[in-house]
Amino acid sequence: MTLSGKTAIITGSNSGIGLGVARELARAGAAVVLNSFTDRPEDHAMAESIGKEFGVKARYIKADMSNGEECRALVANAGRCDILVNNAGIQFVAPVEEFPVEKWNAILAINLSSAFHTSAAALPGMRKSGWGRIVNIASAHGLTASPFKSAYIAAKHGVVGLSKTIALETAGKGITCNAICPGYVLTPLVEAQIPDQMKVHNMDRETVIREVMLDRQPSRQFATVEEIGGTAVFLCSEAAAQITGTTISVDGGWTAL
Ligand code: NAD
Repeated sequence: MTLSGKTAIITGSNSGIGLGVARELARAGAAVVLNSFTDRPEDHAMAESIGKEFGVKARYIKADMSNGEECRALVANAGRCDILVNNAGIQFVAPVEEFPVEKWNAILAINLSSAFHTSAAALPGMRKSGWGRIVNIASAHGLTASPFKSAYIAAKHGVVGLSKTIALETAGKGITCNAICPGYVLTPLVEAQIPDQMKVHNMDRETVIREVMLDRQPSRQFATVEEIGGTAVFLCSEAAAQITGTTISVDGGWTAL
């Protein structure tokens, strides 16, 4: 399977799942545009090393996904966008009545509104070329809920709804839009949740991982960034041309419970 000739933008891709997805798309031959809100030499070096490793064009463009204009500028500055992976995301854990308003606003902006802005900016080019793939990284929390994650869960359910709507608006035009719903994947975002979860549940690290985090993942195994990347590559393939407006769970059985 080859994605050569295609350019992919992956938001929030200087670590974790975004980086894993960027690597798998590059492995499949796509030119990749990495992104985050920082502009460090190591961000650009990461893109350069992916380019060398897979023999594709790879660059890094700084843009803050909490800012709608920067989301749209990312797509414009990339010059071309055949594949858009909306992955940037943050998390915060607190009971709803104590949830800080600025955290609610930031989570909704980065985890949901950014996908609206980047998609709106990318779709005209996809319509023109008659081919496009939008892959939104939602979550098992786009389909189910857990306590203390109100903003994240509201945003991820929103991402699933946005994916369905874009799929209907682009149906039959060579463009698909879907959401991948990972269960727990061990990345910096999950790592950062562990101290909060330990506090909320009054448990040590190993117990919170086994009893709380992987409690709802029947496999009791974290998914890997390569598995999420492989699913994204499949959704970009011609075999997936009629898969649109749906969710694919990569969650070790979480949503089968
Ligand atoms: P991560 O913290 O490793 O990566 C998040 C990425 O988003 C980073 O590259 C970060 O720099 C970027 N980012 C954060 N704020 C940004 C901003 N304002 N502008 C641009 N980029 C920004 O976390 P991850 O676990 O790899 O999460 C990636 C996505 O996968 C998120 O949307 C997350 O909700 C989703 N997800 C993760 C898991 C999991 O278990 N790790 C499960 C389900 C869904």
